Amino acid sequence: MTKNHEIPYKIYLTEEEMPKQYYNVRADMKNKPAPLLNPATGKPMTAEELEPVFCRELVKQELDNDNQYIDIPEDIRNFYRMYRPSPLVRAYCLEEKLDTPANIYYKYEGGNTSGSHKLNSAIAQAYYAKNQGLKGVTTETGAGQWGTALSMACSYLDLDCEVYMVKVSYEQKPFRRDVMRTYGAKVTPSPSETTEVGRKILAEHPGTTGSLGCAISEAVEAAVSKEGYRYVLGSVLNQVLLHQSIIGMETKIALDKYGIEPDMIIGCCGGGSNFGGLISPFMGEKIRGEKDYRIIGVEPASCPSLTRGRYAYDFCDTGKVCPLAKMYTLGSGFIPSPNHAGGLRYHGMSSIVSQLYDDGYIEARTYEQSEVFEAAVEFARVEGILPAPESSHAIKAAMDEAKKCIETGEEKTIVMGLTGTGYFDMLAYGKYIDGEMSDYIPTDEELEEGFATLPDIEG
Ligand SMILES: *Cc1c(COP(=O)(O)O)cnc(C)c1O
Repeated sequence: MTKNHEIPYKIYLTEEEMPKQYYNVRADMKNKPAPLLNPATGKPMTAEELEPVFCRELVKQELDNDNQYIDIPEDIRNFYRMYRPSPLVRAYCLEEKLDTPANIYYKYEGGNTSGSHKLNSAIAQAYYAKNQGLKGVTTETGAGQWGTALSMACSYLDLDCEVYMVKVSYEQKPFRRDVMRTYGAKVTPSPSETTEVGRKILAEHPGTTGSLGCAISEAVEAAVSKEGYRYVLGSVLNQVLLHQSIIGMETKIALDKYGIEPDMIIGCCGGGSNFGGLISPFMGEKIRGEKDYRIIGVEPASCPSLTRGRYAYDFCDTGKVCPLAKMYTLGSGFIPSPNHAGGLRYHGMSSIVSQLYDDGYIEARTYEQSEVFEAAVEFARVEGILPAPESSHAIKAAMDEAKKCIETGEEKTIVMGLTGTGYFDMLAYGKYIDGEMSDYIPTDEELEEGFATLPDIEG
């Protein structure tokens, strides 16, 4: 199928065209996301209760369901200017390879050194911490993207950065660890002996290779037990989705420049931050009844929180030190199969995305990892970019939708979020290429074990 190339391969924005405000989709949501609850009282967390854990301005953002737009401070915009706007790319080569009438666009967030969209929120969170006069921040990281992004942001602002890294990744992904150390972060494998909760988990599960939920507990403990430190989180929270709205805003401005109207918007879902950010301005239009889009979230079949989870209040972490969040969840005790290499392994989904899904604004689907890697390799070979396995869930869905257009002959416009580069995931790619990658879908009985760890809370 030959197409004319009227739309450029890459749509950039000038600095002048870049967004100056974040968009807060909660202001337009008819049903607001459920509030975080204090596990001790069962009541919504107040700002005073959240401030020992998170810095003040971020608490304000976390609780803000009303302001539609929030100014992006000049210092954050200056940092964004170093690596943004990220390109919106027309996937002409992929379209040609698939021989589809569909028009495919991807918003590529992997062009910065941290390799993913996570830097968009890392710089915002580090900025507000610095602005409050804090010494440093603590966090957890799984595969390492968030820790890397936060290390970069903290070194830029001269803030201490302590990262609890899931032990299995710490051992299997030494390069990520050393990028973080290059930017001056202190990296500790989790669970560790350095926190009370870490020692408890090690005593109960000797030899455990760790989990995100467990590393979160350690990072929170480290933050609240030290003067001048706060905890920061790279996904799931309302504030993170707010910062990630920069992705959606830029995408929308770029599309509008050429009068392009997407039919569907597709993103991969771990904790929901890139997806929530990408879709937010489009979701706003959809909720306000101005436009209609199909909005599709994609998750791994091995960690299916939206598609097979319960919508319930749950713990955000294994050690149960964090507030409770209402979300689609597999239970904080759920641990994805060890052969799962595709990321997106958090047990729950952001409260905003969960509520939008529950209200029927979003479709969700799953893919198994080998078909995701197959799509990733096909994409890399025609488009050049080596995608992160996480991002490749969205690629797989976009390719499937583009193939449907071949059958129907429809010229649909598909926009997908390409969240990162796969350079640090070559062990997984190697496995796939050697034919050693296997798929695993948890049974209903296995999911029941995770649901059994849900707290007994109405809401
Ligand atoms: C962390 C990450 C994700 C998943 O996180 P979300 O909060 O769901 O966006 C997806 N892609 C990449 C490259 C990541 O680093």
